[in-house]
Amino acid sequence: MSEKYQEEDYLMISGIQHFVFCRRQWALIHVEWQWQENLRTVEGKIIHERCHDEKFTEKRNDLLICRGMRVFSSRMGVSGQCDVVEFVKGDEGAVLLGREGLWQPCPVEYKRGKTKQDNSDVLQLCAQAMCLEEMLCCDIPEAHLFYDEIHRRERIILTNELRQKVEDVFEEMHDYYIRGYTPKVKSGKKCNSCSLKDLCLPKLSKKRSVESYYETYVEGM
Ligand code: SF4
Repeated sequence: MSEKYQEEDYLMISGIQHFVFCRRQWALIHVEWQWQENLRTVEGKIIHERCHDEKFTEKRNDLLICRGMRVFSSRMGVSGQCDVVEFVKGDEGAVLLGREGLWQPCPVEYKRGKTKQDNSDVLQLCAQAMCLEEMLCCDIPEAHLFYDEIHRRERIILTNELRQKVEDVFEEMHDYYIRGYTPKVKSGKKCNSCSLKDLCLPKLSKKRSVESYYETYVEGM
């Protein structure tokens, strides 16, 4: 059976945070910037490497801790890296090469600050878990977010609704990417904390489009 997406079509999982925050921001980074294109390509290529690197693995009794594990989904056309994946030996989970028994994976994503208002971190985490399920042929019912400001883990139940949202967002991202589409500016409160606000010119765009600004002030110079 041919896969829906080829490696060169893969988008970065971490981009889901940008996309949920602002679709234009994601497009400016992932559609328009060539250097990001290079990064994306590298991310896609890593799927041929071993996803279980011994250098980043720690074992404590029935717990395996893997750091920086590369993950991908050929079904959703995405790839990325998990901060940490914990595997607990038990009655359910995945078969791991060179290890006896079954190991239940649980991705853990470390974040700066505290719980966000939007669900971008949760969607990124869920996407990682969905990739692991596809790679390891197992079910992952929950995953964890750790915020450094509150020093606490949040347990996230990976519901069908959440999974569907992840699929829908990735579909939309692929659609934008294939069309090379960057949405127009829709400024709001979020623009104050946007790292691309200077590039995006949200204040200016309230009065006129970026294109007309360049036509008037740059091309006319
Ligand atoms: S400045 Fe506002 S509209 Fe522009 S990319 Fe950032 S968040 Fe989006």
